[in-house]
Amino acid sequence: MSILRAGKLALVTGAGSGIGREVCRVLAREGANVVAADQNITTAQETVAFLEGTEHIALHINVEDRNSVKTAFKDVVKQYLKPPTIIVNSAGIVRKMFLMKPDDSNFDDVINVNLKGTFLVTQIAVNMLMEGNANTNSSIINISSIAANGRYVGYSTYNASKAGVIAMTKSASLELGQFGIRVNAVLPGFIDTPMISHISEEAREMHINNIPLQRFGKPEEVAEVIVFLASDRSSYINGASIEVTGGLI
Ligand code: NAP
Repeated sequence: MSILRAGKLALVTGAGSGIGREVCRVLAREGANVVAADQNITTAQETVAFLEGTEHIALHINVEDRNSVKTAFKDVVKQYLKPPTIIVNSAGIVRKMFLMKPDDSNFDDVINVNLKGTFLVTQIAVNMLMEGNANTNSSIINISSIAANGRYVGYSTYNASKAGVIAMTKSASLELGQFGIRVNAVLPGFIDTPMISHISEEAREMHINNIPLQRFGKPEEVAEVIVFLASDRSSYINGASIEVTGGLI
């Protein structure tokens, strides 16, 4: 039995790769209509091509740009005649940058995509939901990271951006719960996606020593949790941050 009501409309950012792509797959499997949004329209189209069902579209979005996000949401409403009631903020980037090395552009890039992007998508999605009186039973899921604990050396900006996502999730849940919009965060550990494909075998082994399940996670293992949070089965979970790390210490 499907865990989503048939015809639920979902918008996923970062849908052209990794976790976002898997979220699209699981949402479609559970009967949702999926808007696969990414800055790379080609990979978003590839995602749509392998989804179950037919009511899915690929859309260009640059989450750090307000106009781009607004246009994307307007296009969705034009196409489906309603706003999405499931929003998954998966677009993200990581950059290694040691604090001693001054580099404003790296800082801006990471904060703009990971934190400002989550903010803009949430704000514009919520305004569309309220305007369309479509807010009840809505669910926003933000992808933070276990890196929000600040323990990864050389990634202070990324770590801080993901800690910001947790704080924003909590604050948004306080503001939006009264309107029937739940907001939760998922904190993945090491998940095998293109984002971490640069990790050397040596570093991988070192990290695996800290994971009780003794392996990196698969994107579908994060996607299943996200789709649970999108469904009514999690109807009393709000403002939560859920770790999906294999027990990483
Ligand atoms: P991924 O495979 O690199 O996918 C990220 C997707 O987001 C890519 O398609 C990327 O496009 C897109 N994107 C980047 N900037 C964007 C922008 N400004 N606007 C729209 N789309 C944009 O990474 P992933 O591993 O699936 O990561 C998904 C989320 O999980 C991220 O927020 C990440 O920080 C988080 N996370 C991942 C891990 C992990 O171990 N993989 C762990 C913890 C948290 P391009 O390919 O063109 O850049």
